[in-house]
Amino acid sequence: MRLFDAHCHFDFPRFDGVRERELANAAAVGVGGLVIPGVRRADWDRVRSLSAPENGLWYCLGIHPWFISEHTPQDLADLEALLGGRPSGCIGVGECGLDALRGDLSEQLPWFSAQVGIAARLNLALVVHSVKAHDQVYAALRSGSWQGRALIHGFSGSYQQAKKFIDLGCYIGVGGVITHGRARKTREAIARLPADALVLETDAPDMAPSGVPVGENSPTYLPAILAQLAKLRGDNEELLAEVLLGNAGRLYGLAPEVLAAGAAPG
Ligand SMILES: [Zn+2]
Repeated sequence: MRLFDAHCHFDFPRFDGVRERELANAAAVGVGGLVIPGVRRADWDRVRSLSAPENGLWYCLGIHPWFISEHTPQDLADLEALLGGRPSGCIGVGECGLDALRGDLSEQLPWFSAQVGIAARLNLALVVHSVKAHDQVYAALRSGSWQGRALIHGFSGSYQQAKKFIDLGCYIGVGGVITHGRARKTREAIARLPADALVLETDAPDMAPSGVPVGENSPTYLPAILAQLAKLRGDNEELLAEVLLGNAGRLYGLAPEVLAAGAAPG
């Protein structure tokens, strides 16, 4: 089975000193690659230094809504110049977005819209953080006439909300949320959505699946998320895994074998 973690904060200090081991453990359970999103300029170099496409380690760079106050418009200009140079291993813009639970949406919006524009101009995938702000994220994509590839990462919400994003061409990120019984609405939504619009992710070290301590999530839990997803949908795990890998390939614009280059042979 080949799996791909479409969103994993593998640069975070939680993985310092254990990265090699985590990667080996992940490969042993079929995880052949992951995408590390950059959330603030201060972290971009750290994210880039981990890039190793030949081993399935990819990245994207952006300004997350939690960190906008650390930035100036010059950072957006620099982001576009940096990504415009097509650095090896970089396959998207993000993590960016809107978060109604932390900060002011009207302050976050210009930063998000600017990054939507960068992704559109550079034809890169857009990685979106949308928390209690699906309508506003949708409106921002619409007003920017979004036509590219986008991931609504760590999706939590209703079928109708997910369907609207899918109709716009977005992929829905499925993570640890669905392993929690309390997430009834999201579980019902994910069970009904078309399989070819779903992408697997951990968001590690955050979004711990059921039974995993908060902050201790890792890419090795991706198979558990897949198992829960297959169960909710009544799908065969192996077949679903291949569909999901193909989806991640379309999202990030790479062939599945290239994307999951770190998969253990056999
Ligand atoms: Zn994230």
